[in-house]
Amino acid sequence: MLEVRHNWTKEDILEIYNKPMMDLLYQAASIHRQHHDSNTVQVSTLLSIKTGGCPEDCGYCPQAARYHTAIEGNDLMSVNQVKAQALRAKASGSSRVCMGAAWRNVKDGPEFDQVLEMVRTINKLDMEVCCTLGMLTENQAQRLAEAGLYAYNHNLDTSEEYYKEVISTRGFEDRLETIDNVRKTNVTVCSGGIIGMGEKVEDRAGMLVALSTLDPQPESVPINALVSVDGTPMENEKPVEIWEMIRMVATTRIVMPKTQVRLSAGRTSMSREGQAMCFFAGANSIFAGDKLLTTPNPDVNEDMEMFKTLGLIPQKPFVKGAQPKTVAAEDSQFEAMGEKPKWSRPGHKIDRNEAAKEKAKVLTKS
Ligand code: SF4
Repeated sequence: MLEVRHNWTKEDILEIYNKPMMDLLYQAASIHRQHHDSNTVQVSTLLSIKTGGCPEDCGYCPQAARYHTAIEGNDLMSVNQVKAQALRAKASGSSRVCMGAAWRNVKDGPEFDQVLEMVRTINKLDMEVCCTLGMLTENQAQRLAEAGLYAYNHNLDTSEEYYKEVISTRGFEDRLETIDNVRKTNVTVCSGGIIGMGEKVEDRAGMLVALSTLDPQPESVPINALVSVDGTPMENEKPVEIWEMIRMVATTRIVMPKTQVRLSAGRTSMSREGQAMCFFAGANSIFAGDKLLTTPNPDVNEDMEMFKTLGLIPQKPFVKGAQPKTVAAEDSQFEAMGEKPKWSRPGHKIDRNEAAKEKAKVLTKS
């Protein structure tokens, strides 16, 4: 079995990414088989527990309040609503539920307490629980861990250089700090990015450098293809070609051999053959359910048909790590500290973000 390397450079990664396709596929598939069962794919369900109205300006996201999109926002879901959705996901083959809230960062208070109760509830259903709630302090990460959280998702999105062209309301270093806070607990790290945002191949490699040089490397890495949504600054980006997705998945697999590589947003525009190539190249996780937060995703039945055709089996929960213990709220060792961390706010101007914001103002008035 290969050693996991933590000293990848951009040049190393570009050399892999640009290999002839057949060589790239062969190398990635060989490494994949050394570390994983090649016929098993993890199925996760992504649930938007609080949609829209986000104060951030991520250029790809229809949930940012400043853009005019067709998203219908909703307040934080109840614990019972989330439990019902988790049970449905479990019945259709998901082993993990990932709960996403459109927040800049977690704030101590009743809403976070409600999320902690959701985590306790889903862990008791013997499913892996993941959250993606924005920036997080160490104390908040500890409280999530105590509730039974299995994974925390916090994407780096792209390279440090290109990050400044996508988001102006926070910095790349805030992302790394949150990942570091999660690493101080026993919660696993899920962090990946998006291709097709107008970045160069060098930025894709740069993102993989940032992820693969983390020690330990993230346990999950989602690779998303941009779904360009009307009203967002990236509404006119052209779709990612399947070959780019395959190259990105294969390169991720080679530099992070033990990680679960998740084929995430953008699957609706991929053929089954294209997705099969991604599984061959080392993807071993998907998001199931007809929506990924707010963008479309293949129907669960279609995915199960694809699994049947390809002879793939959904991964059982907790095969890559033990189930965390849930501590009841009244026995908690960690109290809300009401911290107000100073996450950065660079505030530089990104032309396409500004243009989308101005367009939204006009549309809202009319
Ligand atoms: S990606 Fe997350 S943080 Fe960024 S605007 Fe959307 S919901 Fe907010």
